[in-house]
Amino acid sequence: MNKTIFRSVLLACCIVMVFSLAVTLFFLNSYFINVEFENLRAQAELTARAIDEVGLSYFDTYDSSVYRITWVDSDGSVIYDTAADESTMENHLDRSEIVTALTAGHGQARRLSDTLSLETLYSAVRISDGSVVRLSVTQASVLRITLGMIPYMLIVLALALVLCMFISKRISARVINPLNNLDLDNPLENDTYEELSPLLVRIDNQNRQIAGQIDTIRTRQKEFDAITNNMREGMIILNSSDLVVSMNTSAMKLFGGSSSNIGRNILTLERSPQFTKAMEEVKQKGRSEYFFERNGFVNRLIANQIQDDNSHVLGTCILIVDETEKVLSEGMRKEFSANVSHELKTPLHSILASSELLMNNLVKEADKMQFISRIHNEAEHLVTLIEDIIRLSQLDETKEFPREEVSFQEVAGSVVEALEQNARERSVTIEKDVDNLRISGVQRLVYEIIYNLCDNAIRYNREGGHVRISVHRNADTVELKVADDGIGIPSEHLARIFERFYRVDTSHSRSTGGTGLGLSIVKHAAMVLGGQVEVDSREGLGTTFTVSFPADLLC
Ligand code: ADP
Repeated sequence: MNKTIFRSVLLACCIVMVFSLAVTLFFLNSYFINVEFENLRAQAELTARAIDEVGLSYFDTYDSSVYRITWVDSDGSVIYDTAADESTMENHLDRSEIVTALTAGHGQARRLSDTLSLETLYSAVRISDGSVVRLSVTQASVLRITLGMIPYMLIVLALALVLCMFISKRISARVINPLNNLDLDNPLENDTYEELSPLLVRIDNQNRQIAGQIDTIRTRQKEFDAITNNMREGMIILNSSDLVVSMNTSAMKLFGGSSSNIGRNILTLERSPQFTKAMEEVKQKGRSEYFFERNGFVNRLIANQIQDDNSHVLGTCILIVDETEKVLSEGMRKEFSANVSHELKTPLHSILASSELLMNNLVKEADKMQFISRIHNEAEHLVTLIEDIIRLSQLDETKEFPREEVSFQEVAGSVVEALEQNARERSVTIEKDVDNLRISGVQRLVYEIIYNLCDNAIRYNREGGHVRISVHRNADTVELKVADDGIGIPSEHLARIFERFYRVDTSHSRSTGGTGLGLSIVKHAAMVLGGQVEVDSREGLGTTFTVSFPADLLC
């Protein structure tokens, strides 16, 4: 800017300077020519008067070193010339000054020599006999004078140029320095020349507008970050050049990235062939989707191209959804269906086989009761199994159970009542140490929890064993414990006993009427009520199941 102003001022100075010089030269020349013509005319008139009086004898004493005199007759022939032989001179009627003098009494003219370096001024005066006396003087032409002045002019120009440069520098500094020192953050506080005021007011207005817009953008960015960073799904937004514009916390965790990946190409974050292929596919088809496994989780990646209303590509949005639960439950569902078919087939085959033998009279009379009782037991087992399956599917399907006030003492009492006979048959004693506590729960589910745990404690017990049901309140929880001193569970099985149809000893379970679903029902029911189950067992010594409910549920 400084340079531009300096150059502009310098150029303007130079143009003005050269123009002034040319105009001055022109007017000076015109002025001096006029002066010269006036002198020449005065001299011509004096000379004409003398010649008019004395005739040719005037030339006898005339010194022709200054002016040349030509006496021309009215027909244009030269009567006398101080510089040439008149007999050799041509007719002068074609000379403009002569023609004008003949008609008007005086004429003047100015003519350049062939080389343009000299010019001759003519002044002609008519005398009484009608002839014309002409005086002329030859001098250097304007061009010659100008050329002769060039060295001086150059010196003047050089001096003027230096002066111009100095002035230009001062002017540009005076204009630029206040601009360079402007405080653009507080434009109205600047003390500078008044021409800048409208500009400073506009900058101040724009500053306010920009600050407002930045605030809005920041607020929106914060809202966007708050939303995306609390999403369980990973989200990455790319611009049209595949540079990362935004990436939420879940996506960073999944791909091991950080905020330093923002602004860099997406392939610096993830380079797997599957991902690279998806990025190419999204460019060709506008969408790409695939499943991948990482850190034990199954994820679905969905990449969608973002376009504006005119179908111009703005970028890509990548969503990564955790599908582990879905995939696992799909697998579990398949496994459960296969197990159910198997569990149902076994008693049915036994029933079919026994009934066929009976129908074909292939069983001895003495053994018939045994076969009928087997059919009965298997049918009973089938009913229990189907009831357990129904209970589990109800737990799976029902999202919300209506809550009611549940008394542990009442539920534990009815369980003991229902299992007393079984316990007696196995010589197992049931003890109760249940506090009078009530929770907001589901009576049927609490019953199923205590029933299944007690039923197991009796079935996996030994002759003369004990089962103890206790319910007490702790600081934050209500703890329901069912402890036995039965056969216990080998430690390697502990992690899996809550799985559907998992049994430590299948034949023992089946022979005692187990379905392999009891603990799954307990775990699920406890979860629905907001509780959780833990097991502590020593092989040969006994087992304790603890179900903890949050104390908030207490009524
Ligand atoms: P089941 O109908 O076979 O009893 P459960 O789901 O109730 O099925 O229990 C799963 C397995 O856990 C049982 O087969 C058994 O081996 C073991 N188990 C459960 N409770 C006890 C217990 N109190 N003592 C020893 N083993 C137990």
